Amino acid sequence: MTDVATPNEGGAPAAGKACGTCTMCCKVLHIAALNKPHSVWCPHVKQGKGCGIYEDRPHECRKFHCGYLSSNLSEEWFPQRSKIVLMADVSGGITAVVDQSRPEAWREQPFYRQLKSWSRELLAANKYVVVRIGKRAIAVLPDEDFDLGPMEMDEPLVIETAPGPTGRPIYRARRADPGYAARAAVPKVAEK
Ligand code: SF4
Ligand code: SF4
Repeated sequence: MTDVATPNEGGAPAAGKACGTCTMCCKVLHIAALNKPHSVWCPHVKQGKGCGIYEDRPHECRKFHCGYLSSNLSEEWFPQRSKIVLMADVSGGITAVVDQSRPEAWREQPFYRQLKSWSRELLAANKYVVVRIGKRAIAVLPDEDFDLGPMEMDEPLVIETAPGPTGRPIYRARRADPGYAARAAVPKVAEK
């Protein structure tokens, strides 16, 4: 893949990267071990400082490194500032989980331009870029974005192609029909 969003399991952050005062993943992600839903702050967050139970934090917190932390992405992507937490989904695509307090953050630059670039690159490998804002899922495709509304984390997404007027393929995204899951790519989103 490109230079992004490969949360590593227990590995070290990329050289020169650190969470510092960021705690954005402690808000936007679902933490199963704590029964914490997405989009609300974890009760253990010490704002501006970090985790209040750092030594005793759950394994799923220990193993998570977001795409910013585990890649060479620039400081513009620092989640505390960008309000975007990048993750790799199980299909190898990219999920950008956006803080609901700034739901249009992903449309700002350089983020939107980069999401589009990743979309073009990943589609060639049948992988996708999906923005998640709470339960809302938006498929970011090269020519158009498709707001798919509320989707479950494991709900399949289907990308269809048709020849465009110049011969270049046009992509469209939709929710899968019932029963499609077995053969659809499943962008698993925002679970950790
Ligand atoms: S969002 Fe990324 S940089 Fe911020 S605390 Fe979580 S892992 Fe660290
Ligand atoms: S336990 Fe700590 S690391 Fe885990 S979500 Fe809560 S504040 Fe963040």
